[in-house]
Amino acid sequence: MTVSIAASHARGKFATDKIFGASAAANKDVAKYGNEVVVNATIGAILDDKETLVCLPTVEKVFRNLPMNEVINYAPIAGLPDYLEAAMALTFADNRPEAYTAAVATAGGSGVIHHTIANYTEIGDTLLTSDWYWGPYKVLCEDALRKLDTYTLFDEKQKFNIKSFESKVNELLAKQNSVVALINTPAHNPTGYSLTDSEWDSVLDVAKTAAKDQSKRIVLMVDIAYLDYAGEKNESRAFMKKFSNLPDNVLIILAFSMSKGYTMYGQRTGAIIGVSSSKEIIKEFEDINQYTSRATWSNINRGCMRLLATIYNDKAILAQVEKERNEYYSLIRERSNIFMREAKEANLHMLPYIAGFFLTIPAKNPDAVCEKLHDDHIFAVPLAKGVRIAVCAVPSAKITGMAGKVAQALAAV
Ligand code: PLP
Repeated sequence: MTVSIAASHARGKFATDKIFGASAAANKDVAKYGNEVVVNATIGAILDDKETLVCLPTVEKVFRNLPMNEVINYAPIAGLPDYLEAAMALTFADNRPEAYTAAVATAGGSGVIHHTIANYTEIGDTLLTSDWYWGPYKVLCEDALRKLDTYTLFDEKQKFNIKSFESKVNELLAKQNSVVALINTPAHNPTGYSLTDSEWDSVLDVAKTAAKDQSKRIVLMVDIAYLDYAGEKNESRAFMKKFSNLPDNVLIILAFSMSKGYTMYGQRTGAIIGVSSSKEIIKEFEDINQYTSRATWSNINRGCMRLLATIYNDKAILAQVEKERNEYYSLIRERSNIFMREAKEANLHMLPYIAGFFLTIPAKNPDAVCEKLHDDHIFAVPLAKGVRIAVCAVPSAKITGMAGKVAQALAAV
């Protein structure tokens, strides 16, 4: 037995991060062969066509002009009130549901997931997400002594598999009093899928049907990390209107994050936004999440909260930020369009991509495929059942020809 001083539940914890592993391999290849030949499709951030990390220019300007005391000072535990207002307004745009809403500041979208697990599941409970999911969901669940189960995301028509979702919700509710489902849409990581409005209707029908049993609680945590790169502003938010007049035992949580939408990845600023028909449930939501913030990280980044409030409260600045972001949205579209067109030509099957930073090619042996791609100096992230390509990070010139090479690698292993 290896020597350990850790508590029994902490023993053996070890974060193996495939994304950082793949990215390190790409950097090694760059050092050896030069940047021109290497295609690094592992990075989950926007790189421009010169492969430089993008900060939206107006976001940078506002951030640099903040008074120093706004950058360094503590903030209220719940978050700056005008930040919370801005976060909610920017999340809903014209699609505010008829419901009570409240927000509490968190350390990014990750902080929202942390609080959702901590406050809406029992220790030992199982949470639910789709079989294609962002790896840290599981780490967050297991570190909090919970488990994570999955439903099948796609049916045979490559649409949202509502049957699988429904049967897993009911299976979990048969053994525990609440179910928390983590739903990453629109522009899902890793596939790029977005639930349609009618698929949202079906998801909410499942929740409402389950909620008929008053002893059960249903929480849908919608991970909107990529919302601002999902298409037209109000179209991509139209589903939020459907959160009106839900039963009291259904709670919607939205995971607002400034990481992607405002290119503030490392500044760790987000908000947990609650939507409920019950005033009491929303009051409880504010109280318990604020308490968990105090117990987890105290307050969060004041400067970044001030940044969002400043952007939101000046229409011209906001319009400029949205314009700049839309240009990068178009850039990502252009890159993904090239990949999709060439994938079709090469008969390469990919999962349905609607929008977002990533697209995915299913594979039987993802590690071997990624390894094989290294021969062509292409670096992607091997997932459990596929290969993830970060179209956010690869210039169009380097995307060109990539699908064909992926097809060849798949055939070779
Ligand atoms: N959810 C998904 C699906 C993500 O890909 C990410 C970041 O990569 C996040 C949430 C959380 O991001 P952050 O904690 O930086 O807001």
